[in-house]
Amino acid sequence: MKAMVLKNISAVEEKPRELMDLPEPVPGRGQIQVRVSTCGISRTELDEIEGRVSPSRFPMVLGHEIVGRVERLGPGAGKFRKGDRVGISWINWACGRCSFCLKGEENLCDRAKWTGKDAFGGYAQYTVV
Ligand SMILES: [Zn+2]
Repeated sequence: MKAMVLKNISAVEEKPRELMDLPEPVPGRGQIQVRVSTCGISRTELDEIEGRVSPSRFPMVLGHEIVGRVERLGPGAGKFRKGDRVGISWINWACGRCSFCLKGEENLCDRAKWTGKDAFGGYAQYTVV
């Protein structure tokens, strides 16, 4: 699949993202694969590119304001059906067990993972969540 990939921190003016071919992501247990229709850009992406919020690894596919359609279901992913329109936000994963998660405040979870920072985001043809 085609993806715009950030390979390292640099000034935005240096256009550090690069169009690359990456393997199509395969949905794991409880995950869905989404064919990306569109993905917004926010200040967070600029902060990641310039290193104020550093991606957890490189290369990274940025983008966390994703809209698309479910393409494939991983094992046990029964909440959605193929073709459903879905949105994917900044929070990618939370533990579901800590005091914040149990209060519905997953964005404060110490173990949370973030779309486009810890997991590949939406500047690609497909993503999984
Ligand atoms: Zn938690």
